[in-house]
Amino acid sequence: TQPLATDQLNSTAVRELAESCDRLIERMFSALHRARQFSAHVAHELRTPLTILRGETEIALRRKSEITDIRQVLESNLEEITRMSYLVDDLLTLSKSDLGEIPLQPTTISLHQLLKDLQRQGQVLAGGKEILLELDCPDTGIVIQADELRLRQAILNLLTNAIRYTPTSGVVTIAARVTESAVTIRISDTGIGIEERHLQHIFDRFYRVDKNIHQYDGGTGLGLAIVKWVVDAHHGSISVSSTPGQGSSFTITLPKSRNNSTRG
Ligand code: ADP
Repeated sequence: TQPLATDQLNSTAVRELAESCDRLIERMFSALHRARQFSAHVAHELRTPLTILRGETEIALRRKSEITDIRQVLESNLEEITRMSYLVDDLLTLSKSDLGEIPLQPTTISLHQLLKDLQRQGQVLAGGKEILLELDCPDTGIVIQADELRLRQAILNLLTNAIRYTPTSGVVTIAARVTESAVTIRISDTGIGIEERHLQHIFDRFYRVDKNIHQYDGGTGLGLAIVKWVVDAHHGSISVSSTPGQGSSFTITLPKSRNNSTRG
């Protein structure tokens, strides 16, 4: 009868509503849990350099130090302060992006010019380390629509990693290709590589393959999370392939239809 059908309808609706409330609550708790984990991680990451700064300064003050000793302490302190500044910069970028406070400002960029600039910056980054930095991008007037500052930052993060995790005499290559539907930018290296089981995690905030080895190499563990955010914001994708002991290759794919066009 009619009333029964309505009752059934109501109880189904109530059950569905209760289920979606459950799912929502579950999602809220898991977001809260992630936020707590993130704050704990931030505190931990900042505590290490702060402990070093405090310890070294206290020791220098306690003993009668020569000027050369003090200089050494100051140099080491500067390293820690620089590390903390990078960390705070990266944290700010990510929290602003979470809040949607970084609107992209796309402009028309020459791909060849951008990558040539980044190759030069990469050479500066490599400093004294003997790394061959190759550019494989045809100078055919390809232009893309992207937020130049953010895209630069993303590629520079990949380059920094490629240089950081590649031993002396290695090769880092920046390559770009254009297909009908997309522009791909690939940063490959002949470095230490990444084991397969880590690949799905390396874009997570603070994930490092080997925390002990990389603790004082200047990394923040946030570089790839920022790359992922920039690429997602451009409606693109990023993939990685790697062979331990042989090297890694990170590929950014930016769709031509939504954001990009080419000429040339
Ligand atoms: P980090 O500041 O530690 O480099 P990232 O988020 O940039 O943080 O990278 C996360 C981890 O992924 C690194 O700690 C490192 O273990 C691994 N990784 C990233 N890029 C490379 C690479 N080119 N070669 C080998 N390992 C890499």
